[in-house]
Amino acid sequence: MKFKKSNKLYKKGLVHLVGAVNSPVRAFTSVGGNPLFIKKAKGTKITDVDGNEFIDLVLSYGPMILGHRHKKVQKGVEKALKNGYSFGASTENEIKLAKIVCDAFPGMDKVRFVNSGTEAVISGVRLARAYTGKDKIIKFSGCYHGHQDSLLVAAGSGLATLSMPGSKGVPEGAVKNTLISNYNDLESVKKHFEEHDDIAAVIIEPICGNMGVVIPQGNFLKELKAYLETKGALLIADEVMTGFRSKFGGAQELLGVEADITCLGKVIGGGFPVGAYGARNEIMQEVAPLGGMYQAGTLSGNPIAMAGGIATLTELKKQNPYKKFEETGSILEVILLETAKKYHVDLSVNRFGSMLNPFFTKTNVTNFEEAQTSDTAKFAVFFWEMIKNGVFLPPSQFEAWFLSSALTDNDIKVIANAVDKGMLAISKM
Ligand SMILES: *Cc1c(COP(=O)(O)O)cnc(C)c1O
Repeated sequence: MKFKKSNKLYKKGLVHLVGAVNSPVRAFTSVGGNPLFIKKAKGTKITDVDGNEFIDLVLSYGPMILGHRHKKVQKGVEKALKNGYSFGASTENEIKLAKIVCDAFPGMDKVRFVNSGTEAVISGVRLARAYTGKDKIIKFSGCYHGHQDSLLVAAGSGLATLSMPGSKGVPEGAVKNTLISNYNDLESVKKHFEEHDDIAAVIIEPICGNMGVVIPQGNFLKELKAYLETKGALLIADEVMTGFRSKFGGAQELLGVEADITCLGKVIGGGFPVGAYGARNEIMQEVAPLGGMYQAGTLSGNPIAMAGGIATLTELKKQNPYKKFEETGSILEVILLETAKKYHVDLSVNRFGSMLNPFFTKTNVTNFEEAQTSDTAKFAVFFWEMIKNGVFLPPSQFEAWFLSSALTDNDIKVIANAVDKGMLAISKM
């Protein structure tokens, strides 16, 4: 497999782009080698500029849940393009997408669209503070909530990949109202409430995907929600990754927990820049122009992005692929575990529906500390074997793999073969 054109573009890209990427998770820092430059994608396949074709398990870090360029989405977006790109005024499609979203999440009477998951969380946190009149926020170690200052601590995702404890440029004042708890550890939440009486909310990835996949154990979420109610604090579900993916109504539908504020991104735009935050009427009442919490956006509710979201979610609802995701996901999980066993490689696989990933460790991974026991050198070897055998993975141990509803039995065979080559290579390390 040749990467001649990618390597050339990488060198060219380094001149005017930072690390030749526009998001550090796309850099190949932790797996070595240079990032691939992509030319196009269709269905389950992604093609680089050298003409190499891969089964895509990155799916743009989640959004492409129907596979790439689904014909209904393509049609919806092309139709919208003919009417103009952006107006700075309301359009009917915003109302349509709002209805689809609010119908999916019972705790949402109203929604506000923004342009990214980061923006959705910035706004969701501001809303929790506006509504409760309190300042402190609890987040969990290893959960990623976008790159705003106040939550860029113990934040998993790209920081974990690059072994960064936090970000430079975040002033102390910006994180002084951020408290950290351990995932799956309610006691570590209660401890903060015993010490502080000004906690507005707890923000959580209800199924975590940003330290690799980590699953809430037992009734963790339900118990957390019940506890917060006794304290008058809100639960913010950051469903940027899990919304419309775990179930149409996200992890909340799957796990039977209703958050006070929900943040969305990724799948909601089907590959176009859409984020959203929403809540019950009494909470959303705080947002301008109804209330005193200000939040705005020149391109928010962009007509092309709305069309992409409407077409994606409409088709997704029709396909209802969640049972298939569960089946395909469990097949992949078994392939990973059995192949690891065959080659005597220590492996622990975490999966929830269509999100999964292997950790190269004997440890059962239920929090960030355990996730970090994974042997990232083994992951790097595995990553390149997967590439060479036709499977595109996120270039990090700490990112989830995603499945699309387009995945075929033949794709699974290609993945199985690549996994075999990957584990074999590790067994020779
Ligand atoms: C991806 C992600 C974000 C950030 O979304 P962007 O669109 O990258 O800004 C926030 N929270 C979670 C849980 C995410 O997975």
